[in-house]
Amino acid sequence: MIFDDLGLSPETLKAVHEKGYKEPTPIQAKAIPLIQMTRDVVGLAQTGTGKTASFTLPMIDALSGGRAKMRMPRSLVLAPTRELAAQVAENFDTYGKYHKLNKALLVGGESMIEQKKLLEQGVDVLIATPGRLLDLFERGSILLNDIRILVIDEADRMLDMGFIPDIERIMKLLPSNRQTLLFSATMAPEIKKLTEKFLSNPKSISVAPAASPAKTVEQFLVEIHWKKKQQTLLTLIKQEKVDNAFIFLNRKKDIDTLTSFLKQKGFSAAGLHGDMPQPKRTETLNKFKSNEVTLLVCSDVAARGLDVKGVSHVFNYDVPMSADDYVHRIGRTGRAGEKGRAWMLASNSDEKFLEAIEALIKKKLERVVLTEEKRHEPKGKSTTKDTAPRHQKPKAKANTYKPEPQVVPKDDEIEGDGFGDDVPAFLK
Ligand code: AMP
Repeated sequence: MIFDDLGLSPETLKAVHEKGYKEPTPIQAKAIPLIQMTRDVVGLAQTGTGKTASFTLPMIDALSGGRAKMRMPRSLVLAPTRELAAQVAENFDTYGKYHKLNKALLVGGESMIEQKKLLEQGVDVLIATPGRLLDLFERGSILLNDIRILVIDEADRMLDMGFIPDIERIMKLLPSNRQTLLFSATMAPEIKKLTEKFLSNPKSISVAPAASPAKTVEQFLVEIHWKKKQQTLLTLIKQEKVDNAFIFLNRKKDIDTLTSFLKQKGFSAAGLHGDMPQPKRTETLNKFKSNEVTLLVCSDVAARGLDVKGVSHVFNYDVPMSADDYVHRIGRTGRAGEKGRAWMLASNSDEKFLEAIEALIKKKLERVVLTEEKRHEPKGKSTTKDTAPRHQKPKAKANTYKPEPQVVPKDDEIEGDGFGDDVPAFLK
């Protein structure tokens, strides 16, 4: 199937073609015709399957005919986190560039004055986190009786974050003759109940998860004493030809400590966690996307759904306490069919969590002992190129996914205290 077969408007198709997409993904091929028929839809799909465009594209066309009244948005997309809401908003900008639709992003932490101003002007698409939406509703800044289309994105994440009561409250404030689209990676009983209560004769569709990280991400484990974590991370960054990386930690307070440490070692590192003011979170993420920041030290706020292209590595500085989080974390690399590498640092006390992770991914992670100064390749892969003396190395490496290595550490650095002043320019 090609996009032209889907009955989208010429303007929307033009934006899709400019994005370079050749054909709709399975969720798009299934969802777009149903949404065009104004059916309610329950879409079982994970991030990475193209699900955002599957509702954004038909919504843009459906909304293109009318005009929004002051404070009365015409459609509503609910997303669990500010970052995911911003990602949805970006999709509307990309695919709606040839339409004149007004959009507003209502997320906590941003100035309410600006958000209210936009609402006053009338918005076609309102993208919001549940808390901020209810807040503005209670202040009388927003009326929800003109909502024609409601999207609940990442419903399972909403459930994890305790947002289901808020969603139920919001649903009751909306007109009953709306169209409702709900997307979720899993169908927990609470979500099923929600769909039964608030969706009208929905059509359920599901697609296979996007290539699971197990296929595109090489995964390794280093078992060490917790006191050696910082040094081990430095060694890994040095050996691994890191272009850019998410470094996941379990505790917010440790994020600041590790970020300072990495900065002190000369890296371009920044922290990202839920307690930071929203403008700072947005700025940090943008800097990471533009490669101004190359090491993003973060909590699980960054683990789900965030779509940053070309991330070479994920480091689990802490073993996540939930096995699901492990899968989400490593899925930040190896996206869109690219290859990625994920490393985890584990100490004795992590045994229980590690077992749960290995049970979930149904494989034992490859244990690596960091002794030699070389990039570790999974068993069975040739490492001759990496172990060959540098002056004999061919320019292009046929068995790796990256171009010529960009980190070429000096031989005597490895046991030292990290990079000292000798930090590769691309990481500064
Ligand atoms: P999502 O599942 O919405 O988070 O989308 C995952 C990624 O797939 C995003 O980077 C989109 O830009 C990309 N994408 C969406 N639709 C298509 C398509 N039809 N062909 C190729 N890539 C797509």
